[in-house]
Amino acid sequence: MSAAEFDLIARIRARAATREDVVLGIGDDAALLQPAAGRQLVVATDTLNADVHFARDAAAANIGWKSLAANLSDLAAMGAEPAWCTLSLSLPAQSGDGLQAFVDGFLDGFLELAAQHRVALVGGDTTRGPLSVCVTAMGFIEPGWALRRDAAQVDDEIWITGTLGDAAAALALAGVAPYCENEVGRNAGDARTEAARLFERLHRPTPRVAAGRALRGLVRAGIDISDGLLADLGHVCAASGVAACIEVDALPASTALAAACAGDSRRILQLSGGDDYELCFTAPARQRSAIAQALSQTQTPAAVIGRIEAPQAGAEFAVRVRSADGSAWTPVRTGYRHFG
Ligand code: ADP
Ligand code: MG
Repeated sequence: MSAAEFDLIARIRARAATREDVVLGIGDDAALLQPAAGRQLVVATDTLNADVHFARDAAAANIGWKSLAANLSDLAAMGAEPAWCTLSLSLPAQSGDGLQAFVDGFLDGFLELAAQHRVALVGGDTTRGPLSVCVTAMGFIEPGWALRRDAAQVDDEIWITGTLGDAAAALALAGVAPYCENEVGRNAGDARTEAARLFERLHRPTPRVAAGRALRGLVRAGIDISDGLLADLGHVCAASGVAACIEVDALPASTALAAACAGDSRRILQLSGGDDYELCFTAPARQRSAIAQALSQTQTPAAVIGRIEAPQAGAEFAVRVRSADGSAWTPVRTGYRHFG
């Protein structure tokens, strides 16, 4: 290990907070952690690569925030309480000062979000290579209470927290996304504050940790929306052996999105845009008021957007989308595909 890498690790270690269940954190060959008695360990990993998951010139603090947020969102989608994380950084060769500035900025965003959720950074790896960030987050859940993808049942209502499409609209505004550009750009021209809200959603997503916790024991299946509603709900359908029907007019939109984009362009963003990190879950209709109450205690808005159905033989998509008049609303794009 070079002196520069040693120095970087020392900087990370100096800033990382700890918690009482970390017996030994950064600095040894491995961390020693004391899991809570009687609870299951929940582990999620996500890698963010430059030019694929974030722009190479993105603010380092935003990259730090988002790399942890994506992982905390996965824990939230299981209903888990986050506790620990590790951080593997691959950093391109550059001057020591440039590296330090990047790592300092990265930690500003990463550790701000970690502190909000009392997550301790307990280890990681630091190497030279193309800019890439891999985070592993760990947390706890009571046995049997996880919100799994394979638990949806026919006639369950489908819920979504918050609003959909903001992050995708920001990408479209930035000219990155290959759809909706003109529409979004034209309508948002005078609405800089609204546009800034969209970019905040893209760069600093809020993992729905408190909502995920509140839903334990009330709902059946759950997933977070990282690749787009159609794609992610499709994963639930595949795992559960069911189909789903979404009411396109029930999809919740933020005022910022409504200001930026209308009509079918907006619906495409809401159905197919990734990076929103909202929770989608299914539950029997009788749980409606208990769910609404539990979520309101965590200040989480949520809406019912459709229903789980029996799978249709020969259907092209497990998830169908319906207009107000009951006719089919044809999905155009099903989530961001990293390969192919
Ligand atoms: P080893 O050779 O045993 O893998 P390293 O030199 O890679 O040790 O790491 C030394 C210590 O610093 C370890 O405890 C490791 O977990 C921690 N560490 C390395 N890089 C990071 C990082 N990016 N974030 C947090 N901890 C790190
Ligand atoms: Mg190592």
